[in-house]
Amino acid sequence: MYSVSTEGSFDAAHFLKDYQGKCKNIHGHRWRVVVQVSATSLLEDKQNQGMVADFKDVKKALNQLLNTFDHTLIYEKDSLKPALKKLLQEEDFALREVPFRPTAENFSRFFYEELKKSMNITQVSVYETPNNCATYTD
Ligand SMILES: [Zn+2]
Repeated sequence: MYSVSTEGSFDAAHFLKDYQGKCKNIHGHRWRVVVQVSATSLLEDKQNQGMVADFKDVKKALNQLLNTFDHTLIYEKDSLKPALKKLLQEEDFALREVPFRPTAENFSRFFYEELKKSMNITQVSVYETPNNCATYTD
């Protein structure tokens, strides 16, 4: 099995509702996302001969996805009181609702499933900090 990896990043805030500790507060990360694409045989067309995938295509899909989170406040559906959400929207803050608790683990699966729609993703790792990483894999 051949694999290639590339990475992207975005800056965003989040918080963990019902968490007892510092992460219950709104705080920011530079989220670093490393994706792996695999293939049992290499491409044979003239342009991509000898490649698993063109890094350019993988990076483009990854960056398009990550850009939808960049400089946003990421929050789990129903974790903000409607009145607060309305006030934040009135201030024109960029809010990004997700249907899951915004942990690195859940993001690794979310990015995996989104990218899997267009390429043979086999692993996604999400770093919240340089030292802490969560991985979702086949
Ligand atoms: Zn955090």
